Amino acid sequence: MAILKVARLGHPVLRRVAELVPPAEISRPETQRLIDDMIETMHEYVGVGLAAPQVHVSQQIAVLECEAHPRYPDMARIPLMVIVNPVLTPVSEETAADWEGCLSVPDFRGVTPRYSGVRLEAFGRKGERIELVAKDFFARVLQHETDHLNGKVYLDRMGDLTTLCHLQEWSRYWLDRGETE
Ligand SMILES: [Zn+2]
Repeated sequence: MAILKVARLGHPVLRRVAELVPPAEISRPETQRLIDDMIETMHEYVGVGLAAPQVHVSQQIAVLECEAHPRYPDMARIPLMVIVNPVLTPVSEETAADWEGCLSVPDFRGVTPRYSGVRLEAFGRKGERIELVAKDFFARVLQHETDHLNGKVYLDRMGDLTTLCHLQEWSRYWLDRGETE
């Protein structure tokens, strides 16, 4: 496995709509290696999600995981999950605003509105079909990662940029409000 270089905002790969992965190709060794490397990269940078365009691969693949976080023990947990060709549908119009950050927009945080609940349809890393309804933090991470596969970053969703903070100032003045990455 390998730790991959993370693309930062400004790299065109982050603004492209990523290619769908033909389901029959998910099991290919190259794809499986990419998924393993993405998981290792997410762990290395202590992210809760990583999308393939963030490692310069324009394919509809993302990984998510939120185990007990040393800095944020109260954060909701998400078991390790691989999603391929995800499609999200909001379950209602209800939205919630919370902090987000992004490995491709390093050292910033901003309050981002997201749907409170979404239905996910995707393939897993074995090509199996995934269908579930996610709420709250899990729904937020799914929306953040799926946005990456459609050429969007959380800044596009913020609307109002007045909460945008450098990490150091965020830690100093706003940390109590929780975080999403
Ligand atoms: Zn991100």
